[in-house]
Amino acid sequence: MKILVAVKRVVDANFRVRVKSDGSGVELDNVKMSMNPFDEIAVEEAVRLKEKGIATEIVAVSIGPAKAEDTLRQALAMGADRAILVVHDGRAEPLGIAKTLAAIARAEAPDLLLLGKQAIDDDSNQTGQMLAALLGRGQATFASKIEIANGNATVAREVDGGQQTLELTLPAVVTVDLRLNTPRFASLPNIIKARAKPLTKTTPAEFGVDLAPRLTVLKVEEPPVRQAGVIVGSVTELVDKLRNQARVLP
Ligand code: AMP
Repeated sequence: MKILVAVKRVVDANFRVRVKSDGSGVELDNVKMSMNPFDEIAVEEAVRLKEKGIATEIVAVSIGPAKAEDTLRQALAMGADRAILVVHDGRAEPLGIAKTLAAIARAEAPDLLLLGKQAIDDDSNQTGQMLAALLGRGQATFASKIEIANGNATVAREVDGGQQTLELTLPAVVTVDLRLNTPRFASLPNIIKARAKPLTKTTPAEFGVDLAPRLTVLKVEEPPVRQAGVIVGSVTELVDKLRNQARVLP
């Protein structure tokens, strides 16, 4: 079974992003970049499926600047077998990414396509869904458990008020959620070995995909500054404030 995992290079989850002074986006100069955390979970799941003898090959794919090679090397160090970098500078939207991934999927014919449920920079939560639609394949989003047997994937997903279990015929697209697993840290020997693993560089044009954005970002703003809290002197004062100031109590 071949698995294709999509990994995006994003601003590190622990880095405090700053909005550009002209409000056109966030500062990306001198900012620590990392693999999108949900994509680390997707890579980890693929590696575990290979370790269980279910998967035979893991191909990691990223669409992004030349530096996204670092993100792919991390996937290789975690256990992916080879990588494809579609070099693209500038903003790209989920539809363009999904079209590129669909073109790669048609060429690679994976049995399972694993993506993060969302990229933490654009928070779109769209790429996996669009990819499944473009390929005409089944999809399960927000996976918290994946089991593969007899050409099917059984996927548990957390939904409002409980858990839903879906069965999909492979090939299928699955997007992963936080609870699926805890990604491993790549060991130093594996980081070194990853340097020698195959990484192919290509361009969106080679797949006939135009990644020019269709949406215009009008404005990016900092969230409103939170007001300072108050320490109340008694439960009576707390209840009074909740009732008469916050108006959250009847
Ligand atoms: P999004 O729909 O932008 O929230 O992204 C959802 C998932 O799509 C991510 O977690 C990745 O698995 C995949 N993805 C999005 N953008 C890219 C990209 N530029 N390169 C590779 N995978 C991507």
